[in-house]
Amino acid sequence: MRTIFSLILCLSLVILLPSCKRKKLQEVVEVPLPSAEEKITIGHPDDVTADEGQFALVKLPYQYNELQPNIDILTMEVHYSKHYLTYTNNLNKLVAADATLTDLSIEDILKKADGTNADLRNNAGGYYNHSFFFEGMGPKSGGQPKDTLAAVITKDFGSFENFKTQFSDAAEKQFGSGWAWLILDRTGKLQVVSTPNQDNPLMPRQTVPGTPLLNLDVWEHAYYLDYQYKRKRYIDNFFKIINWKKVSQRYEEATAKK
Ligand code: FE
Repeated sequence: MRTIFSLILCLSLVILLPSCKRKKLQEVVEVPLPSAEEKITIGHPDDVTADEGQFALVKLPYQYNELQPNIDILTMEVHYSKHYLTYTNNLNKLVAADATLTDLSIEDILKKADGTNADLRNNAGGYYNHSFFFEGMGPKSGGQPKDTLAAVITKDFGSFENFKTQFSDAAEKQFGSGWAWLILDRTGKLQVVSTPNQDNPLMPRQTVPGTPLLNLDVWEHAYYLDYQYKRKRYIDNFFKIINWKKVSQRYEEATAKK
């Protein structure tokens, strides 16, 4: 009996000792705690202002959290108060240093951004594209456009679903950073295009130039926190927050100019 007891005791020690060792190993793993500097504080969009200059940030027509769950609060905050602000401040510095740009509208500056000045092209594009993007979304939005724009989309794409597929494909297949666009081309027809980096359809030497009506940012900073590599899910969810009223207004303005 004593022999059996000793055997059981030995076996138990053989089994338990390695697990004790493992526990001890786990205990010594150090997990760095966030420092005070790393604490995340979400600000308010109305408190963000560009440095003094020719161009101001467009006022965000909603709060950072109002596009959730489709775009998370931190992505919105960083996108608006860091990325967009930086493009705007850089643009203002470039404009201040070049008398030929003084008092020009952003659209007229974009028409001059022919690629000979990469800084101007990137920052003027970054300013315009983001202003346009933020104003094209909204809470309690999505669905489908109404009235004239709905009819024109059906005429030019065959159906809203066809348009959605084309726009989604353009956004998904844009290699690397860039934008997907719905534009009114120079013949008065709606088209879907994509542009790399901060280019846009108002700039010279575009494959299909035109007047922008809707755009989608597919730079990773626009979706990576929430969606990581799943760009397609970000694109699908973007359709839930498109402000079609704003897009229709842009269409009316674009056709009135023609
Ligand atoms: Fe962006």
